[in-house]
Amino acid sequence: MQTYKDQDTRQDPSLSTIPPAVRQPPDDQPLRAVYHTTCCIVGGGPAGMLLSLMLARQGIQVILLEAHADFDREFRGDTVHPSVLEILDELGMAEQVLQLRHTKIRQAALPGLIKNPLVDFSRLKTRYPYVAMLPQADFLEYIAGEAQRYPHFQLMMGANVHELIIEDGKICGVCFQGKDGAYAVRSSLTIAADGRFSRVRKLAGIEPIKTSPPMDVLWFKLPRQPSDPEGGMGRFAKGHLLIALDRTDTWQLGYVIWKGSFQQVRAAGLASLRQSIVELMPALADRVDKLQDWKQLSLLSVESSRVRRWYKPGLLLIGDAAHAMSPVGGVGINYAIQDAVVAANVLSAPLRAGRVSLCHLAAVQRRREIPTRVIQGIQTLIQERVIAHGLNPQQVMTVPPLVRFLLRIPFVRDIPARLIGFGVWPVHVRHRSQDGRLAG
Ligand SMILES: Cc1cc2nc3c(=O)[nH]c(=O)nc-3n(C[C@H](O)[C@H](O)[C@H](O)COP(=O)(O)OP(=O)(O)OC[C@H]3O[C@@H](n4cnc5c(N)ncnc54)[C@H](O)[C@@H]3O)c2cc1C
Repeated sequence: MQTYKDQDTRQDPSLSTIPPAVRQPPDDQPLRAVYHTTCCIVGGGPAGMLLSLMLARQGIQVILLEAHADFDREFRGDTVHPSVLEILDELGMAEQVLQLRHTKIRQAALPGLIKNPLVDFSRLKTRYPYVAMLPQADFLEYIAGEAQRYPHFQLMMGANVHELIIEDGKICGVCFQGKDGAYAVRSSLTIAADGRFSRVRKLAGIEPIKTSPPMDVLWFKLPRQPSDPEGGMGRFAKGHLLIALDRTDTWQLGYVIWKGSFQQVRAAGLASLRQSIVELMPALADRVDKLQDWKQLSLLSVESSRVRRWYKPGLLLIGDAAHAMSPVGGVGINYAIQDAVVAANVLSAPLRAGRVSLCHLAAVQRRREIPTRVIQGIQTLIQERVIAHGLNPQQVMTVPPLVRFLLRIPFVRDIPARLIGFGVWPVHVRHRSQDGRLAG
């Protein structure tokens, strides 16, 4: 992966105009170089990576700063939804992405509670009626590779942003710690795509409104056998919930626990956890012994939040930085990428013209805020009415007759798949690039 392109560096003649309070790198290190670009994107996750690609295809200069040295992430979202596949199709990249190793989830069921699949993507009217389970690292590597074909794109790995450059109340770039010292990037627009613990958001003084979902998730893997059922499923039993996602030769499993109860689960011991897993999915009895060490489990502290205003002069927040989503429905990546597409649709022309105003930034928020709030509302409802109920060992999980009836009506039956697959409304790529292909 590419690191610093020193040949593109121009020493900044106006460096002295940056207030010392915001340009000091740690330990008062001198800045090794100052880069100039039109758009500086912080965070090489799904949102930042796709937005970088779409802007670079439009001939807009982009520098993408990613704190980590690679894209390797265990148990991050690996779900590529129908809406994202359609977006990739519009960018002419879906077929190549689907060449990467993946599995397809066409249905998700709640066996023991509802007879038919609760979510059936195969009925969606799309070329891609499934969720592709594709390792996020592979997906990001691919998009980064595509973006690097454009001369306007510059990716800097191991670039940890720690300061904002603020002049006359406007964010004019960032300072970051690289592998070999401190650097700065000056830009017309800075995009915070640095995830749910966004440093840029904090530095800009934007506070997220947090809601507290009642659960955390322990992710782990067990072998999958060809005779096992396909797709995704969730099972409730005795105050526990297990989510199982088909990854061909492994099951990706999510053991849902009460928020903050991990230490209790741990104190009860691995044997107790294994027993609970078998109660939830008896078919795993012959392989649950593979779970021998707590290091095989990853704790996801579930969080849901959103910021009131997604922008400040010179700065826009997208993806998890603007709204961390609960894992219900696994829509985090979908929403992060949809934000990126809308940002590219709205901002490409003003960025090229060098005239990005607060109105443009507000337009991105306007288009994305309603879908985000609607889905977060639905997630809260499911967490409080279904998951919290299911995690209570005193309660027996049942599906009310009215819900059973509604799920037989074709239009209603397809709502969960539509909402998970596409969100509240679909997002499409708008402009054409200079070579005539569709782009951001
Ligand atoms: C354990 C786990 C499982 C998940 N499972 C799913 C799932 O199955 N499906 C789903 O849709 N979603 C899932 N999610 C959520 C999903 O990963 C996020 O919603 C999605 O990745 C958000 O994309 P993003 O680009 O906004 O942010 P992120 O993917 O969080 O990317 C942010 C990037 O910014 C970088 N960064 C952070 N700080 C700095 C800094 N100071 N300087 C430079 N770079 C920085 C980070 O290294 C990271 O690469 C899961 C999340 C977790 C934690």
